[in-house]
Amino acid sequence: MQATDGAQTHQRVCEQPGCRLGGDYRAPRARDRLNEHRWFCLEHIREYNKKWDYFAGLDADEIEAHIRADTTWRRPVWPLGGRSSGGSYAHIIDPFGLADDAGLGEKPAPHYDGSEQLTPAERNALDVLELSWPLTRAAVKSRYKELVKRHHPDANGGAREAEEKLKQINAAYSTLRASEHLPTE
Ligand SMILES: [Zn+2]
Repeated sequence: MQATDGAQTHQRVCEQPGCRLGGDYRAPRARDRLNEHRWFCLEHIREYNKKWDYFAGLDADEIEAHIRADTTWRRPVWPLGGRSSGGSYAHIIDPFGLADDAGLGEKPAPHYDGSEQLTPAERNALDVLELSWPLTRAAVKSRYKELVKRHHPDANGGAREAEEKLKQINAAYSTLRASEHLPTE
């Protein structure tokens, strides 16, 4: 006869050392190892989630090392707010979609470093180009090229709206190109 004890009710146990809760939440091991997983309880996957985001610039081994170090694990050494809002970040902030599933919401509000100094014309130009601050000249240029391609009248059967949109895009680009507020690189 075999009794079922607590340990067998969960197939997986949270990987956080010392934690005995069920590892019901799956996390990719690293950005470049998305098919390899770690399993955590809800609380610890939240921490893992934050830390993963924070260490996004490091390579997989460095992230691993930090996560395994208990002392850094237990303390919020990462900045909890005030992260920049670059588009490439958007999918990393909540990589496992937990915010929606578990009602954990509270994504950091978009953070506009130094955007106070932008003129209304520059803000408008950002809107037209669908860009958010902060950004680089290279990013402006590449978005401009992309939008010109998309809205060029030739690509839209000579449509009047496309022509109008293209004018706005050109004006927005001129504004930003002449802006003193963009980094010079
Ligand atoms: Zn846990």
